[in-house]
Amino acid sequence: MYTHGLGDCLLLRFAKADGTLFNVLIDCGVISVASGAAATMTRVANDIEQACGGRLDVVVMTHEHWDHASGFSSQQAQSVFDGIDIGEVWYAWTEDPQNELGRRLRKERAEKVDALTRAAVALGRSPGPAAQKRSERLTAMLGFFGVETSPGELAAGPPIQRTRAAFEYLMKRRGVNTRYLYPEKSPIDLKGVDHTRVFVLGPPQDESWIKKSTPSKKGGGVYQLASEIELASSVGAAFNRMADGEHLGRSVDDCPFDSGFKQTAGKQQVNSRLLAELMSVTWHAEGEAWRQIEDDWTQVAETLALNLDTHTNNTCVVLAFEFEDTGDVFLFPGDAQVGNWMSWQDLKWRIKSPAGPMAVTGPDLLAKTVFYKVGHHGSHNATLKEQGLEQMTSEDLVAFIPVYKAQAEKNRWMGMPFNPLVDSLMEKTGGRVLQSDAALPTAQQLSGLSATARKAFLDSVQRDPGGLYFEYSIGTTP
Ligand SMILES: [Zn+2]
Repeated sequence: MYTHGLGDCLLLRFAKADGTLFNVLIDCGVISVASGAAATMTRVANDIEQACGGRLDVVVMTHEHWDHASGFSSQQAQSVFDGIDIGEVWYAWTEDPQNELGRRLRKERAEKVDALTRAAVALGRSPGPAAQKRSERLTAMLGFFGVETSPGELAAGPPIQRTRAAFEYLMKRRGVNTRYLYPEKSPIDLKGVDHTRVFVLGPPQDESWIKKSTPSKKGGGVYQLASEIELASSVGAAFNRMADGEHLGRSVDDCPFDSGFKQTAGKQQVNSRLLAELMSVTWHAEGEAWRQIEDDWTQVAETLALNLDTHTNNTCVVLAFEFEDTGDVFLFPGDAQVGNWMSWQDLKWRIKSPAGPMAVTGPDLLAKTVFYKVGHHGSHNATLKEQGLEQMTSEDLVAFIPVYKAQAEKNRWMGMPFNPLVDSLMEKTGGRVLQSDAALPTAQQLSGLSATARKAFLDSVQRDPGGLYFEYSIGTTP
């Protein structure tokens, strides 16, 4: 578990029957507001190379966000990865070129990123603190896609999506086998590793789950995909005109009223004296600016950005590594949000066991989870309660939150990690919560555990003296 900043990078090393290691890397990235990111990620990549002996059997790219993929970018540590032998790369089915829904979701994502980049640029050029703030918020969100929205960026051509390039690096690298993961397919064996299998829990193959960000009792909540693509392109076009200095509404097509009825801030243009008087004491008077609504439509950009963020998180690969001898499960949900989590409840696999074929369900895997990589850096809507943490009933549960509070705040993410969630994790794990920006749990924090459990935990976890990672081992240490 690398603790380099706000971002995911997890190296799993399994002992093979022949005494060598099977190495799996899940993500490698850091949030764009982190300072010295290139040096940090190079340090991480060098450490990975050394720890895996120059060979990664599998790299899992959970989803297309900078804080999970930046390490593979040419601006950061791609040259180090170039020198590492890589067997396979695993992506979600949403990246499968043969999958129609996947293709549509990718197109929609690209359209939205493009529209929002235009929005951020246009708002950035608009006077007034409200537009500036909105632009800053959008820019922070676009940081996930590696888009820079400095003035003139658009003039140089279509927005550069650095995240896409980093995310695709291994898909395009010669000699690396690409595998697309579908939930409910038979669990995957790790070649040469006995008694270990990998269940794919997400992303769900259902658009309504992917677009679900808030829990509701009714369920459902299906969006119309086609209209979202249209919305993205009209929003993009509107902001484009704004960036060109032409305000929305100037064009007859944009405006629902005849131009004679149009009011612009600071400019009187009514024919009626009575109306002009009324306007002068309301609309145009000092302190009455709150009545003006001409920029309110720009709010749509933030709504679109939030949707984009959630939908991308819900395309996360979710993996459960099961050790068949003990039944223990290590759960890695990436940044999966509500819809992805809810879909696990209905999952079922038929597997072979010494006692004959048996069924394993999503809730079974949650119940056996002994290591939980906390979803989406500990945010409030990426660890479900009843259909999530409360089903993780193992007495041995340990949790790891890949979060840096200071970097989250720098990126205007307040409440990351979300305190009530951290409290629940502390309670469920008896204090066995590791967090990237914190030291190892103190004896005080672990006081709820039995002496045996406390010793077992402290014996199996280590903090790298350089502060680069936590190492957690079970069974025999490689
Ligand atoms: Zn993330």
